[in-house]
Amino acid sequence: MWTVEKIQAYYDELNKAYGLQVVPVIREAKKGKSPLFVKNGELMFIPAFFNHPELDETVKMMLLTELYSCFHIDRRKTGYVDVNPGFMAKGICLERGVDFASDDEIEQNLRKVRRQLYDEIEYCCYFSVGQKLRESAFVSWEVVGITRNGIDDILVTVKPIGCNLGKPERTMTEEELYKRCCNFRDMKNEKVDMRRNLVVISGPSGVGKDSVVKKLLEKYPHLHKTTSVTTRTKRGNEVDGANYYYVSKEQFYDLQTNDSLVEYTLYDGEYYGTFYSEIERHPDDVPLLLVIDGCGRRSLMMRYPMAKTIFIAPPSLEELKARLIVRGENSDEEIERRLTVAKDELEQAYKYDFTVVNEEVESCAKEIAKIISKTVLVAQ
Ligand code: 5GP
Repeated sequence: MWTVEKIQAYYDELNKAYGLQVVPVIREAKKGKSPLFVKNGELMFIPAFFNHPELDETVKMMLLTELYSCFHIDRRKTGYVDVNPGFMAKGICLERGVDFASDDEIEQNLRKVRRQLYDEIEYCCYFSVGQKLRESAFVSWEVVGITRNGIDDILVTVKPIGCNLGKPERTMTEEELYKRCCNFRDMKNEKVDMRRNLVVISGPSGVGKDSVVKKLLEKYPHLHKTTSVTTRTKRGNEVDGANYYYVSKEQFYDLQTNDSLVEYTLYDGEYYGTFYSEIERHPDDVPLLLVIDGCGRRSLMMRYPMAKTIFIAPPSLEELKARLIVRGENSDEEIERRLTVAKDELEQAYKYDFTVVNEEVESCAKEIAKIISKTVLVAQ
C-alpha cells in the first residue's frame, strides 16, 4: 500500500542516490484524472487510484519518477535546472530495473482505472470541456462536449479552431482523440544514462576555456576530457585526435544521421559534436569534462540528466574582445561574429549550475576543481 509517507521515503531514497534535494509537499486528494499530479506546487496523491489493483506497477513507478523529476526541475524558482522530466524519469527507471512504457501505454492503463473508479465525466475522461488540442501544424480542436454511455464508451465532441476552421465539428472516442493529439512520446527507444561523472564546461569564444581546461588536466590528472569532432580546419599547433577529430562536412552529416553523436552544434559556419563513444570510452567513476556550447549542453542534458554544468564568464565583454584580438586566430569579422554569439551566451549563463569568472587561468581552474570535487560523483 502506498501512502504519503511511503512516497516521501521513496523520494528520500532517490535523493540519496542522485545527490538531490527534492522534497515536495505531498497531500492526499480525493479525486483526479491521475493518481499523482501537481496542484499549486504541491504533489497530490489519490490513495484509491494509486493503490487500485489494476494500476500497473510500472505505471506507478513511472509516475513517481516523472513527478520526482518535475519537482527537481521546478527548483527553477531558486535555480535553473535544464533537464527533461520524461528523460530523467526514464533514466531513473532504467537504473532501478523498471520497464519504461510509452505515453500511450501509460494512458491506456490510467484510462482503464479511471473508468472503473469514477462515474463523473469530469474525472472519468482524460479530456475536459474547453480544452484546446493541437493535432498537427494545420489541425487544432477545442473540446465542446463529453458523453458517456456505459463503462467503456466515452465520446468526445471537438470543434475545429485555428487553421482548420471550416472543418465540421466531430465526435470520436476518447482513445482516438488521445492518439491523434496527445500521443507525444514513445520513450522506449530514447537513450538516457544517469551517470554522474559528466561536467559540461561552456563559455564564449576567447574566454580562455582551453587554457583553463588545459590547466585543470595538468594539475588534476584524475580529470578526463572528451575530444569533440569538428568540420573546422585544424589550427597551427592542434593535433588530430587530441584537440579535435577533424572531419569533412559530408562525414559529419553521416555521423549525425547514423546517431553517433549525443549532441552537436553549428558554430560560425562549422559543425562541432560529441560522440556517444567518447563518453562511453572513459570510466564513469572519474569526472569527465566536455567543453561544448549552450546548444550542446541542452541536448546533452536530455541524454545525461545528471551532468553538472559550469559556465566560464569573462570579466567583461571589453576584456573578451581584447583577448580575442590578442589570441590573433580570428579575422576582425570573425571576432565581431564571436562577440555577438558571446552576448547571447552570457544571457544564458543562468541555465548553468555554476558560473565562474575567468580573471586569471590558475585561480579559475582551481575554482572549477573545487566545484567538481564538491559536487561531481559525491555520495550524499
Ligand atoms: P573553437 O573553434 O574555438 O575550437 O570552438 C568554437 C566553439 O565550439 C566553442 O564555444 C566550443 O565550446 C564549441 N565546441 C567545441 N566542441 C564542441 C562540441 O563537441 N559540441 C558543442 N556543442 N560545442 C563545441
